[in-house]
Amino acid sequence: MSELTLNNGVTIPQLGFGVFQVPPEDTQRIVEDALEAGYRHIDTAAAYRNEAGVGAALAASGIPRKEIFVTTKLRNGEQGRAQEAFQNSRKALGLDVVDLYLIHWPVPSQGLYAQAWKEMERLYNNNQVRAIGVSNFLAEHLDSLLESAEIVPAVNQIELHPSYQQAGLAAKCRSLGIAVEAYSPLGQGGDLNGHAVTAIAQAHNATTAQVVLAWHLAAGNIVIPKSATASRIRENFAASSLVLTDEELESIGALESGARLGSDPAVASFTQM
Ligand code: NDP
Repeated sequence: MSELTLNNGVTIPQLGFGVFQVPPEDTQRIVEDALEAGYRHIDTAAAYRNEAGVGAALAASGIPRKEIFVTTKLRNGEQGRAQEAFQNSRKALGLDVVDLYLIHWPVPSQGLYAQAWKEMERLYNNNQVRAIGVSNFLAEHLDSLLESAEIVPAVNQIELHPSYQQAGLAAKCRSLGIAVEAYSPLGQGGDLNGHAVTAIAQAHNATTAQVVLAWHLAAGNIVIPKSATASRIRENFAASSLVLTDEELESIGALESGARLGSDPAVASFTQM
């Protein structure tokens, strides 16, 4: 599995497994399926309420801790108490050290993300997290954060899939040394049925999900597809061995429609509590 090196030298498996909307009671089993399939990178969040299930799967797997990369995220409603929120996540996961901790959304209306970042920096400097980053940060939020930040975020986890690529934001992140992590990488399943990806899949005797994931990997994105279906979990993992031609990559790149699936980070203000 290909690994990328973050701006602080920490390496991250490029293809990970996301558990948004995986019910807490199913999480251990589904994460065990993912580990069995070969994933060594799990993306959760306090807001998903399934960190304990992730932790149970990690513990049951017997896989050495250093071989698995675990990301979790600070809830919007806890930006004013990041230390306490982090300790709760760490305990739920059953981990001494978390690999990557992200501010889940900027929530500009709260005016707290720069303060939260200071607390993330403290966690990093105290060796409780191996890397810190942000999620759903638009260019304006990055610019504002960097005015007071001592540490440049390692990652910005953003909505990114063929029909919503955020090319300008992704380029800005890369120019700042911030790795681009694509969430909802399959467009929540909606980017898997079009003519272009179907034709490419047929040409490679692959599935459309594998084609879309191969496109992300070729672009250098960290990518975290979710599936609760064991066969799809394996299918998605196998995308790492699919190589597309430049022409195929370009035809997927032409699928941009500008239609966002998730909330608009400029105005999203939910607490996630
Ligand atoms: P995805 O783009 O990963 O799509 C998931 C959907 O696609 C599910 O309905 C799944 O169905 C289906 N699917 C998965 N694999 C296949 C396949 N091979 N063939 C057909 N259908 C498939 O969307 P998500 O929104 O779940 O994003 C992935 C991860 O990104 C999340 O789990 C989370 O970790 C992260 N994320 C982060 C956000 C943030 O704000 N930072 C916001 C949203 C997501 P099924 O499960 O039934 O197999």
